[in-house]
Amino acid sequence: MISKLVECMEPQLVRRIYDLAKEYCGVTDLTLGDPDIPTPECVKRAACEAIRENKTKYTANAGITELREAIIRDVEKRTGLIYGIDEVTVTAGAMGALYLTSLALFDPGDEVVILEPHWPNYSNMVRMCGAEPRFVNFFDEDAQDMLGKNIERAITKKTKAVIVNSPSNPTGTVLPFEKLCEIADIAKEHGLYVLTDEVYRTIVFDNSFRSILEIPGMKERTVLIDSFSKRFSMTGFRVGFVCAPQKIAMAVAMLQEHVNSCASMFAQYAAKTALEENEALEREICGIFHSRCNAMVEELRASGKLEVPPVSSTFYLFIGIKKTGLSSEEFAYRLLREKHIAVVPGNAFNKAGEGYIRIACTLPEERLTEAAMGIVSFVEGL
Ligand code: PLP
Repeated sequence: MISKLVECMEPQLVRRIYDLAKEYCGVTDLTLGDPDIPTPECVKRAACEAIRENKTKYTANAGITELREAIIRDVEKRTGLIYGIDEVTVTAGAMGALYLTSLALFDPGDEVVILEPHWPNYSNMVRMCGAEPRFVNFFDEDAQDMLGKNIERAITKKTKAVIVNSPSNPTGTVLPFEKLCEIADIAKEHGLYVLTDEVYRTIVFDNSFRSILEIPGMKERTVLIDSFSKRFSMTGFRVGFVCAPQKIAMAVAMLQEHVNSCASMFAQYAAKTALEENEALEREICGIFHSRCNAMVEELRASGKLEVPPVSSTFYLFIGIKKTGLSSEEFAYRLLREKHIAVVPGNAFNKAGEGYIRIACTLPEERLTEAAMGIVSFVEGL
């Protein structure tokens, strides 16, 4: 018999529509958050060199010292915070970081507040620990005004942590600093941990990003989750990391031994090179996504039936489709059938995502604008 855990997991709608798209010819696939931009040459070279030098073995559970030191320097430059070497663990992507952190912190019966619409892996990872997700809408304007109050309402004696994801997948929202301060105050008052997932932090178009870690008194209760995947177009390398109080970072390393032992050795060396070249690489990748998002938004605004908010980060557009009269899933399935364009229905990101679709701008600009014209023609033809 399959485990009860598997039975309570929610199916991944993102993957379902991605798989369905494969059944059509000539599909424009805007589903997965996997950038099409090639991994930078210097990173690929570093990976090849590492393999040639036989850096193809297990590493320490917490990762190679050179990479952990490079991460410490990088985080200090960005936040002014200084982490010790035992406060940093390299993981198999941010997914590894999130899952192992969840295992390190959550016991069965604990509750975890997740802001929705949210990347669905959070709630499933929480469930994989036997804990329960509690959702708080942060997306609508009213919801942002009420964010602090709604988080307070969701908190019970069992609440252990809040997961913050800014910039957000799927909405592209960058949480304003005053909202982060509200969350920080609540976390301090109720003795909660904060998991801050900042994997899109370097893909921000207007300097609006601030980290909850910058708020005094938060470093002690915050786990920073980050990764090289989106920042350097390195999703397949599977390198991420946790910066956290020593007890948590070392618990993550200890648990990693029993899951995947360590992140791939040569990928860790490649990640170290990415950090050495980070400013130029990040500027280039961010510039490409900014230009693509702007081009898409301009085309999509041709239809009054679509709500197209301004974009400030990531490579996702979260487009309101309520005026079309279709549900998110009806919209996505019909768009795929009728125009061979694959997008993700917003309800893939929980109830708060109903009435929206998510478009990942992970194709060259010409193909994106063509897809935007297809979406507009679909909407206007309804
Ligand atoms: N966090 C968020 C918000 C994501 O959107 C993703 C991937 O889509 C991840 C984490 C996972 O990143 P990684 O490839 O580093 O595991």
